[in-house]
Amino acid sequence: MRELSRDYWKSIYIWKDVAEEDWTNWKWQTVNKIRAVEDIKRVIDWVDKTVLKKISDVYHFATTPYYLSLANLEDKNDPILLQILPDLKEIDEEYQKSAYLDPFLEDVKSPVPGLTHRYPDRVLIRTTNVCSVYCRHCMRKRMFLEDERARPKEEFEKMFQYLREKEEVREVILSGGDPLTLPNKKLDYILSSIQQIDHIDLIRIATRETVVNPFRFYDEELLEILSKYDKVWVVTHFNHPEEITSYTKVAVKNILRTGAPVLNQTVLLKGINDNKHTVERLMRELLRLKVKPYYLFHCDPTKGVYHFKTGIDKGLEIMEHLRGRLSGIGIPTFVLDIEGGMGKVPLLPEYILERGNNFLKIRNYENKEIIIKNL
Ligand SMILES: *Cc1c(COP(=O)(O)O)cnc(C)c1O
Repeated sequence: MRELSRDYWKSIYIWKDVAEEDWTNWKWQTVNKIRAVEDIKRVIDWVDKTVLKKISDVYHFATTPYYLSLANLEDKNDPILLQILPDLKEIDEEYQKSAYLDPFLEDVKSPVPGLTHRYPDRVLIRTTNVCSVYCRHCMRKRMFLEDERARPKEEFEKMFQYLREKEEVREVILSGGDPLTLPNKKLDYILSSIQQIDHIDLIRIATRETVVNPFRFYDEELLEILSKYDKVWVVTHFNHPEEITSYTKVAVKNILRTGAPVLNQTVLLKGINDNKHTVERLMRELLRLKVKPYYLFHCDPTKGVYHFKTGIDKGLEIMEHLRGRLSGIGIPTFVLDIEGGMGKVPLLPEYILERGNNFLKIRNYENKEIIIKNL
């Protein structure tokens, strides 16, 4: 975990006068999001304004001051900057030619606008298309093409009606955009409407606020809301150990205090975290925060994101490395989401070498082979 020194942001010129109570206020972070090319230029002098303008005219660009402040601003290959700064490859036809705007047909397999029902027992709701930071690797990058908009109440009412009628649905995933960019009152309304439906067991909130604006979870009003609904689970999205700071630790502690378990999903990204030692470090840091690593995603074939793909072998190599070295609690499932909306498939290194009627030849994490007969 990174211990940031007190008032550390004041060393960055444009924030030299920002008081601690503002810096640690989530609303200050969102009101002061950096989205204009001129503003990022004031923090990072080497950014190419023309390139940035060209890409941000196609796909939204935004970051919180906090998330940007975690980067080494002099390093063009900084893992945080690579997740924030637009890259020409995003709009390069050659790089993106095999990618899809909506690879999982979410908008097509949608019985009610904004709701995708892919698996029998769970549905996914896109609550808004707004995020505090527009991650360059977003699997829903098509949403960056639209104007920013949170869904109005009438659309939620239609989704809740659908949920009430479909008794096989046991879980609702609140995604986006980022559901935690919504105001507390709206969140309260959404959570209470879903919590009341008897056949729903779980409400999964998928958010990146823990990473890009941890101060969201310093908001006592939000924490009270989360405490009211005992079906809530929170899934965060940390990709790199450098994203974990003393502020994150407080944020996660505050979520755990509300009674919600906290899980994490990571996306494997070329040049950012496609290294077994980086992933191991990340998983260890998450364990220290009491965050359970849930999924490690192979990068999706989304238009504008294709250049982050690592290939499947990289993911398998990382999984091979983690097993045996790291607590089983810290090992995520490596998954590939199948294009066309056929669902996610777990991928594992091969441990079964041969199988017969009454024997199994397997290997362990150290590659020692053994034949087991008493099955
Ligand atoms: C990923 C996803 C889910 C959740 O799948 P889990 O394996 O339970 O995490 C549900 N619905 C859709 C549409 C999804 O993309």
